[in-house]
Amino acid sequence: MIEHDVVIVGGGLAGSRAAVEIARIDPNLRIAVVAKTHPIRSHSVAAQGGIAATLKNVDSADNWEAHAFDTVKGSDYLADQDAVEILTREAPDVVIDLEHMGVLFSRLSDGRIAQRAFGGHSHNRTCYAADKTGHAILHELVNNLRRYGVTIYDEWYVMRLILEEGQAKGLVMHRLRDGQVQVVRAKAVMFATGGYGRVYNTTSNDYASTGDGLAMTAIAGLPLEDMEFVQFHPTGLYPVGVLISEAVRGEGAYLVNSEGDRFMSAYAPSRMELAPRDITSRAITREIRAGRGIHDNGSAGGAFVYLDLRHMGKEKIMSRVPFCWEEAHRLVGIDAVHQPIPVRPTVHYSMGGIPVNTDGQVRSGVDGLVESFFAAGETACVSVHGANRLGSNSLLECVVYGRRTGRTIAQYVQTRKLPEIDEAAYLTQAHQTLQSLLDQSGTYRINEIRQAFQDCMTDYCGVFRNESLMQEGLEKLHQIQQQAQQIYLDDKGKVWNSEVVEALELRSLLIVGEVILTSALHRQESRGAHCREDYPDRDDTTALRHTMAYYSPAGIDLRYRPVTITLFQPQERKY
Ligand SMILES: Cc1cc2nc3c(=O)[nH]c(=O)nc-3n(C[C@H](O)[C@H](O)[C@H](O)COP(=O)(O)OP(=O)(O)OC[C@H]3O[C@@H](n4cnc5c(N)ncnc54)[C@H](O)[C@@H]3O)c2cc1C
Repeated sequence: MIEHDVVIVGGGLAGSRAAVEIARIDPNLRIAVVAKTHPIRSHSVAAQGGIAATLKNVDSADNWEAHAFDTVKGSDYLADQDAVEILTREAPDVVIDLEHMGVLFSRLSDGRIAQRAFGGHSHNRTCYAADKTGHAILHELVNNLRRYGVTIYDEWYVMRLILEEGQAKGLVMHRLRDGQVQVVRAKAVMFATGGYGRVYNTTSNDYASTGDGLAMTAIAGLPLEDMEFVQFHPTGLYPVGVLISEAVRGEGAYLVNSEGDRFMSAYAPSRMELAPRDITSRAITREIRAGRGIHDNGSAGGAFVYLDLRHMGKEKIMSRVPFCWEEAHRLVGIDAVHQPIPVRPTVHYSMGGIPVNTDGQVRSGVDGLVESFFAAGETACVSVHGANRLGSNSLLECVVYGRRTGRTIAQYVQTRKLPEIDEAAYLTQAHQTLQSLLDQSGTYRINEIRQAFQDCMTDYCGVFRNESLMQEGLEKLHQIQQQAQQIYLDDKGKVWNSEVVEALELRSLLIVGEVILTSALHRQESRGAHCREDYPDRDDTTALRHTMAYYSPAGIDLRYRPVTITLFQPQERKY
């Protein structure tokens, strides 16, 4: 059995930042990071626009209170305000620390870190490295993992969380290269497994964003929080869904419909293109539904709108958002200096996740904590984003809460012993799971089922939702879950069998999808990203609360947790 003091699943920003913190505090601890990709290939590397912090380099009137207010308003008042206060107060410090590690931020002419405008932020506070911010930060963090001697298990797929009597004891993992299975025991287990964009058919997310950490947590009997809140980013490149960063609008680009109108004036007159993402995504969807979308041939009535950069000029486009220009050019042949970019909303971010307190400890329910189990980053819900996340607050969350969780763990393990685990039993079960996948003589290929499932989630639980649609969606989903019992694998081997991993990921996707649909069906109001056509208003009297969903194969049980309100009383949300 492999042993470590701490095992972290996920080599993205949250997992890497936590590992660095633990190593800094106690260099003698044996820390491991496990990732199903190489850590550098975690989705964090694709983050483009930036990381928010009130450095006041561009706007001296900015302060953490303003950042906190924008975040809470952006969240449609569902965020826990104690967690938001920590996020925004610690932001300048974590960004300066990244800079000291060597992250190459873009600069002002006087050498200080540059800051740009972003949706829903009332001041220019987003720090960036052109439009490759995640790349710049993740490379430095992973360099630091090596520097501190953290053990990295890359291309190992974690298939099970070992949780016994309310305590996380370790995990079971499977090596892609040769099919080897190992049990790991540790004094603390942390999940930093990222989001679940692949639950939907059009997403900005990596192929690896399949919600595995969420599903393993749910299977272990622990709740998932606020899963109905799925962020649609307004500007996915049409038709592929790849992200065109909000930084492009932060630098001044327009959204235009088939009539040539900057239609955001009808939806958010004071913020225009820089309204929060939920509002902008709904506006684009409404324009398309009203026949003011655009076709491939430029005529009205099509499925996208234009993102127009042309007035920004070549020099600004190439210096501030070169990667977005390149994506549009490479993927759909558009030269954004001379042509507008076709865009429509794409699934982007998971506001909900594994419930944690502000020290990163996983909640066992409405009250209470799980022993030895921690989570941070997109897979966690601390809840700083509530019902809608503001752009550039997620990288920030990964770094602030990655660091805090790392600190908690470094203290926590000092007095703990390695847990006892029946290794043989876990190995036998894992081998059986894998062998039964290989032996299965079903009738469906994985891809067929995955596609049907992604279409189902997109059609029945998208930007706009209502009761009958979601009921129908759940019935369809149950049929797809039945069919998923009858998949077959072409590859029966052990070496680099990526089909086995796809089958395990499909299991995660189906569980996460069911939790999203069920949580959404039972939230009878519209708040942030959750927009119900049959309940168009926000309902603070009965629905200002966090959903806690408990999964079991027999069905999902829902409970609720109160929202922490400290600084800002809920008000009407207008931009
Ligand atoms: C295209 C794009 C652009 C973005 N731009 C911005 C931005 O400009 N600003 C901003 O604030 N936010 C942005 N975001 C959001 C932000 O990047 C993410 O929320 C954040 O990076 C998530 O980091 P993470 O560490 O939680 O997870 P990730 O970076 O997704 O890492 C997850 C890790 O978990 C591992 N893992 C998962 N499952 C398993 C398993 N079963 N076994 C082993 N390992 C596993 C993966 O291999 C990976 O290492 C963007 C997101 C996207 C998709």
